[in-house]
Amino acid sequence: MSTKTELLVIGGGPGGYAAAFLAADLGMQVTMVDMEKYPGGVCLWRGCIPSKALLHIAKLVKEAEEAEKIGIKFGKPEIDVNKIREFKNSVVGKLTGGLGQLAKQRKVNFIQGKATFINSTSVSIAKSDGTTETVEYNKAILATGSVPSKVPGLSIDSERVMDSTGALEMNNIPEKLLVVGGGYIGLELGSVYAALGSKVTVVEMTSGLLPGADRDLVAVLAKRVTSLMSAIYLDTKVVELKEVKEGIKVKFEGPKVTEPEQLFDKVLISVGRRPVTTGFGIENTKVKVNERGFVAVDKQMKTADTAIFAIGDIVGNPMLAHKAAAEGKVAVEVIHGEKSFFEPAQIPAVVFTDPELAWAGLTELEAKEKGIEVQIAKFPWGASGRATTLDRNDGLTKLIIEPGTERILGVGMVGVGAGDMIAEGALAIEMAANVKDLSLTIHPHPTLSETMMAAAEVFYGHATDMYRPKRK
Ligand code: FAD
Repeated sequence: MSTKTELLVIGGGPGGYAAAFLAADLGMQVTMVDMEKYPGGVCLWRGCIPSKALLHIAKLVKEAEEAEKIGIKFGKPEIDVNKIREFKNSVVGKLTGGLGQLAKQRKVNFIQGKATFINSTSVSIAKSDGTTETVEYNKAILATGSVPSKVPGLSIDSERVMDSTGALEMNNIPEKLLVVGGGYIGLELGSVYAALGSKVTVVEMTSGLLPGADRDLVAVLAKRVTSLMSAIYLDTKVVELKEVKEGIKVKFEGPKVTEPEQLFDKVLISVGRRPVTTGFGIENTKVKVNERGFVAVDKQMKTADTAIFAIGDIVGNPMLAHKAAAEGKVAVEVIHGEKSFFEPAQIPAVVFTDPELAWAGLTELEAKEKGIEVQIAKFPWGASGRATTLDRNDGLTKLIIEPGTERILGVGMVGVGAGDMIAEGALAIEMAANVKDLSLTIHPHPTLSETMMAAAEVFYGHATDMYRPKRK
C-alpha cells in the first residue's frame, strides 16, 4: 500500500504529537507514526508521567509517616504493589488514550508501526498489523526521541538489572536496590523505591548529586534525600556487576570506598539517555548527525535535508518534554510559512524529588563557568510562614541577577512545590522582568510563592520576614 501526506511526523512523543496536533489545527494534512498504540512517547508511556504517578504515592507514604511528629499517628503502611502498578498504568492509559482521541478529532492519520526512510521524501512503515505501507510526504518532522544509555560492561543481561523503563514496571519492591547514577531519573526512581520500603543505595561518579545544578540548592535536597536513602556514595564508580544466586554482586571503585564488594537484590542503571538516530534509514536522507550524536538542526529546526525537520531529544539537551513540544511548534510554524525561531530565554528544569528542585534560565554554576558577572539574592524558607505551616522549612529561593540593569537572568528553587512555582521565574525571565518588578508584585499570603517576592526584597536589603541589610 502507498499513500501521500503533506506532513509526516515520525515519533509520537511530546515533540511529535505537539507538532502533529498544531499542524492539523493549522489545516495541514498530517500522518503521525509511532510504535506504540497511541501517541505519548517516552514521556507518557515510560518517563515523566508514570514516574510522577509513583512519586505521588511515595509522597503520601512519607507524609503519613511524618504526620506523627505533629500529632497524627497512622499505622505502618501496607504496600500493595499490584494496586500501585494498576494506578500507574491507569494514569498512563487515560493520558495516552486521550491523545489517541485528540488525534482522531483532529483527523491526524495515526499509524502504529516503525518508519524507515527510503529516501528524503518517503518512508516504509512496518505496521503493527504485519502489513507494510509506503508514505510519501512533502515535509517530515523527525521526533524519534531517546533511550536509556548503556554502560559498557555493566549492562548485563539479568532480570535484576533494570533501566528506568524496567524500574517503572514495578514488578516488586526489592529489599536492597542499588541506583547507579545520581541524576534526576535515578533520584526520582530511587526515592519511590525507598518510600515503598527498599533499602536504596545511590552511587554517583562525580563529587555531588545532580551534576549541573547549583550546589546550594542541591545541598538542601541532599540533606533529606540522604536521610531517605540507606547510603549515597559520591566520587564512586561501579566497575563490575555480576549475577550470583542471591542477587547482583557489585564492585565499587573510588577514594571513599570502604566496602568494595556488595550484594544487591536489584540494580537500576540510570546514567543518562542517548538519542535514537540509527536503525531507521537516516543514512538514506541528507540529515546530518553531529559529533555529539544528535541530529544537527538550525534555530528553525531544519536539518541538512530540506524536506526534513527534527525536534526533541534527538536534537540535543536539555532532554525534556516541554523543550520537545516547543521545538515541535516552531518546526510546524516554519513549515506553515511563518518566521519562527527556537530561541527561548529559558527552559525550566524540575527534579521531582522531595523536596523538589527547579531552575529556569541562567544558573549560578553556568554563570561562573562562562565568566558572566551576576548578583545573587537568596531567601531561605526558614523565614517563610507558609513553609513553617507545612513543617517544611527545607527550601531556598534564589535569583540570579544582571548587575546594573537588575534584570532576572535565572531563578533557582528547592522546596516542596518548587516544580510548579518555577513557572513564575520562567515568565519573569521571558518577560525580561527586573528585581523591582518582582518585589513590587503583590504575592498572595501565606504561600510559598511569596518567597520569589521575598528574594527580590532581600536584594534591596529589606525583606520583611528576614533581617539582612544590604551590604554597603
Ligand atoms: P520521545 O518521547 O522519546 O518519543 C519518541 C517516540 O518515537 C517513541 O514513542 C518511539 O517509540 C518513537 N519512535 C522512535 N523511532 C521510531 C520509528 N522509526 N518509527 C516510529 N516511531 C518511532 N521530561 C520532562 O520534561 N519532565 C519529566 O518529569 C521527565 N521525567 C522523565 C522520567 C523518566 C524516567 C524518563 C525516562 C524521561 C523523563 N523525561 C522528563 C524526559 C522526557 O520523557 C523526554 O524528554 C521526552 O519524552 C522527549 O520527547 P520526544 O518527543 O523527543 O521523544
